[in-house]
Amino acid sequence: MTEYPTLLPRFLKYVQINSRSDENSTTVPSTKREKDFQKDVLMKELMDLGLKDVHYNEKSGCVIATIPSNIDYKVPVFGLLAHSDTADFNSVNVKPQITKNYDGKSKIRLGESEFYLDPEVFPHLKNYKGQTIISASGDTLLGGDDKCGISEIMTFAEYLMTHPEEKHGEIRIAFTPDEEIGTGAQHFDVDEFNADFAYTVDGEAPGKLDWGTFSAAQFSLDIQGVNVHPAVAKGQMINAIQVGIDFQNSLPQNEVPEKTDGKEGFFHLMNFEGTVDSAHLDYIIRDFERQGLEERKNLVKSIVKKMNEELGSERIKLKMWDQYYNMADELKKHMEIVDLAREAYKAEGLTINEDPVRGGTDGSQLTYMGLPTPNLFAGEENMHGRFEYTVLESMWKAVDVLRQINKLNVERNK
Ligand SMILES: [Zn+2]
Repeated sequence: MTEYPTLLPRFLKYVQINSRSDENSTTVPSTKREKDFQKDVLMKELMDLGLKDVHYNEKSGCVIATIPSNIDYKVPVFGLLAHSDTADFNSVNVKPQITKNYDGKSKIRLGESEFYLDPEVFPHLKNYKGQTIISASGDTLLGGDDKCGISEIMTFAEYLMTHPEEKHGEIRIAFTPDEEIGTGAQHFDVDEFNADFAYTVDGEAPGKLDWGTFSAAQFSLDIQGVNVHPAVAKGQMINAIQVGIDFQNSLPQNEVPEKTDGKEGFFHLMNFEGTVDSAHLDYIIRDFERQGLEERKNLVKSIVKKMNEELGSERIKLKMWDQYYNMADELKKHMEIVDLAREAYKAEGLTINEDPVRGGTDGSQLTYMGLPTPNLFAGEENMHGRFEYTVLESMWKAVDVLRQINKLNVERNK
């Protein structure tokens, strides 16, 4: 493994910049702080490194750049993507904390807080004996998701720009917004990016290779009740809260996130607010099979229809839409892209883990938009909360893998 001395300072700088997205916003990107991070920090750095065509796309909120080719023949152009926003958790005043030469068994206290990274609770920690753990300090997330990926891509670009002896074709880079709220990829300009294929660098521990994801839909219910005085309610009141509870109880009770794993799908009630007069419920539906997703959607529709019939009018209004589809269905037509990553992992001595992602990636959408995009590991652990951490050596390894992908891409197309 190569040590990349600029990677850690780069990562520490990025995580201290608040770039959280906001799902209630309608702008692109969803927050000004994402745009500021993209334009003032990332775009500037890419320019300083000497990349070509560095620009910010106002429509997509993406920073785009090209590592120019240094060979005299054409090889497939690949893209590398990472998202600049962080998840829905406190991201103000992130204080990264470094534990060097971790002993693989102690609890790591997060700052002065009451919280610890405990290897009994998070057994992955035991894999990192002797390595450098970077965590937050208890009251914020770390933001390694996906500032790990950004740091690795930036360090990879820096390496190629300063090592002309390492041969490469054109390579495109995109830093994208709003991955955590699921909207960033929708605005991505695949034509402008003009790559033959791409990888997001936004995955977990070294060896993880993601090319199967959930297929996903979302729905909301708006329930109109009838609010009358409880004393005279008999036969008249329709309690919107109770209608919502009845709906929830009509779904398969074991098909929820907390009772499923592996390849099992679920219905997930994410939000329920209401009064007797009206109620609002938000759900997501997940399934690895497209057919399974359709069946789940049909079940929801049939429950709503039946309940409305029993209530005598359309008291429950359903809105449902698809979010993304399992990219494996599409990537099966482009397995050479997955194979290239597999070979790079093997060449770096990694054990490959292809467990399907119980979630989506930007690649789930991009693949269906014509840019096949599996997801590479970035060294993220315990994403989306105060227990998030990453490992410096995992990040170095990720840069090695990017260089290996480039090397194989150049060699096999000579
Ligand atoms: Zn991410």
